[in-house]
Amino acid sequence: MKESGRKQSAASPCAACKLLRRRCAQDCVFAPYFPADEPQKFASVHKVFGASNVNKMLQELPEHQRGDAVSSMVYEANARVRDPVYGCVGAISSLQQQIDHLQTQLAIAQAEVVHMRMRQFSSMSSGGGTAGNSPENVSPSSRHTQTQPIMSLFTMDILHQKSK
Ligand SMILES: [Zn+2]
Repeated sequence: MKESGRKQSAASPCAACKLLRRRCAQDCVFAPYFPADEPQKFASVHKVFGASNVNKMLQELPEHQRGDAVSSMVYEANARVRDPVYGCVGAISSLQQQIDHLQTQLAIAQAEVVHMRMRQFSSMSSGGGTAGNSPENVSPSSRHTQTQPIMSLFTMDILHQKSK
């Protein structure tokens, strides 16, 4: 794959050298990552980071990490071009808000589960008459250990019977 990339760039300059109007050398650091048929990739990265900074950043990385570095720089640069104020921080903070929102919903759902278990427990222990009246009967530790181990013992039992 690298071979064909080099042959191509020997014939025509890579997208970076074309934009910078310079000769694309055999060892051009941009050539493997900025093919001539995708000029927009280098244009964004050049606009946001500057060609010499991109060059420096790539030189400082081992070759096997340069492809990923270019992908993330292109992503960041495109986000900055699209949103000059927040760039990719806009996407990060909106995802962070979604996480906060989903965590709140999860906490509410978990609280409802605990509430329902407490009601079930108290209706079982008091014959169903006074559901929800004695949540004190369920200590945090017994509430926590009650369902899961019973479930797994039960399924283990089923598996045991099946294997016989
Ligand atoms: Zn080049």
